[in-house]
Amino acid sequence: MLHLTLLGATGSIGSSTLDLVSRHPDRYTIYALTANTNVEEMVRLCERFQPQFAVMADTASAAQLKFCLGSATTQVLSGEESLSEVASDAEVDIVVAAIVGAVGLMPTLAAVKSGKRVLLANKEALVMAGSLFMDEVVEHGATLLPVDSEHNAIFQCLPSGYGVGSKPSGVTKILLTGSGGPFRELALSEFDGVTPEQAIAHPNWDMGPKISVDSATMMNKGLELIEACWLFDVDESDINIVLHKQSIIHSLVAYNDGSVLAQMGNPDMRTPIAHALAWPERIVSGVEPLDLVRVSQLNFEDADENRFPCLRLARAAFRQGGTSMAILNAANEMAVESFLAKQIKFVEIAKLIEKTLENIEAQVVDDLQTILADDFRAREYVQQQIKHLAV
Ligand code: NAD
Ligand code: MG
Repeated sequence: MLHLTLLGATGSIGSSTLDLVSRHPDRYTIYALTANTNVEEMVRLCERFQPQFAVMADTASAAQLKFCLGSATTQVLSGEESLSEVASDAEVDIVVAAIVGAVGLMPTLAAVKSGKRVLLANKEALVMAGSLFMDEVVEHGATLLPVDSEHNAIFQCLPSGYGVGSKPSGVTKILLTGSGGPFRELALSEFDGVTPEQAIAHPNWDMGPKISVDSATMMNKGLELIEACWLFDVDESDINIVLHKQSIIHSLVAYNDGSVLAQMGNPDMRTPIAHALAWPERIVSGVEPLDLVRVSQLNFEDADENRFPCLRLARAAFRQGGTSMAILNAANEMAVESFLAKQIKFVEIAKLIEKTLENIEAQVVDDLQTILADDFRAREYVQQQIKHLAV
């Protein structure tokens, strides 16, 4: 029986993970569930999965959860330190890192540093602290398994025995696919009036609001490009981004003998999560079998950096190195949050990120403090800029 800590239990990845856990009660049991402030949902999940621990972001939510659970077996905690504790406890075998954004970094690193099997959905953690994060994986013998569907697909297309963090041999290109989101064909003149409701309506995937906006700007693909560089020890120039509107092929790996391997499946996150949970075995996921005749067509096109400037910004940040990627990520998180709160326009997101990268000087990464300091500086800068932009 494997004991699981699920960071971000109330989110989209969290609920897909819990669906898999309930399909395999003989293999997995929940040690800890964590969430931001959604007490109502956590009450439901704690009653159903009976974890030893539940962690809420703040004391008020924790007190409310405790009150609702009464004398149940679950111990309720709060705050960042508790997140790291439940991610690193000796009883835990698997940590699913499914908190959204930079707040997921510390608990995910805690899991890595205690040598866990870490299922990584929280791409922002790797984007902001890639070199340091991968060093810790090696130093502490953690097993890092990508849950992001593209990276999970790439991992599946790499030779058996391949370990994340090392350079794969014989590989000439990684082809990172992306649907292009809801605005793949929108007239450029209409981008100015795009609303949050339109931006989060992804054509193929059902995801949380932040990653849905990232998919609409294609910053999601930019973050994934950086994520892939760290996971597979390749350069940004080794990766081509290919638009594939059906989201059936989740990415491809090209080899020096001309072979190109792809991983396919219906767009349902239970497939990559199931793969990472059971690896190197396979388990039933509940995902509908792929019917290629019904899909009938698979289309591919180049990604247009004019339409999606975030792609260019992410490549540039990786090339520049150091804390540039933490600055890019922080600026993006702030800009997306403001767009969702209807404080800025959709088109301002990329502009704000570019301006932040120009104005905050990136440092060489010495330690975590350097990264966190630049993350903070970038957030402050964006906040100031937003005051001038407020719609
Ligand atoms: P979501 O918004 O649906 O869920 C986010 C989770 O994080 C929730 O449980 C929330 O309570 C928790 N959280 C948010 N802020 C927090 C805070 N300050 N402190 C503690 N917990 C907090 O997001 P999601 O779509 O499930 O995505 C989660 C992560 O997985 C993101 O990094 C995303 O990029 C990545 N990812 C998601 C998908 C997908 O299909 N949803 C696919 C690939 C990668
Ligand atoms: Mg993805």
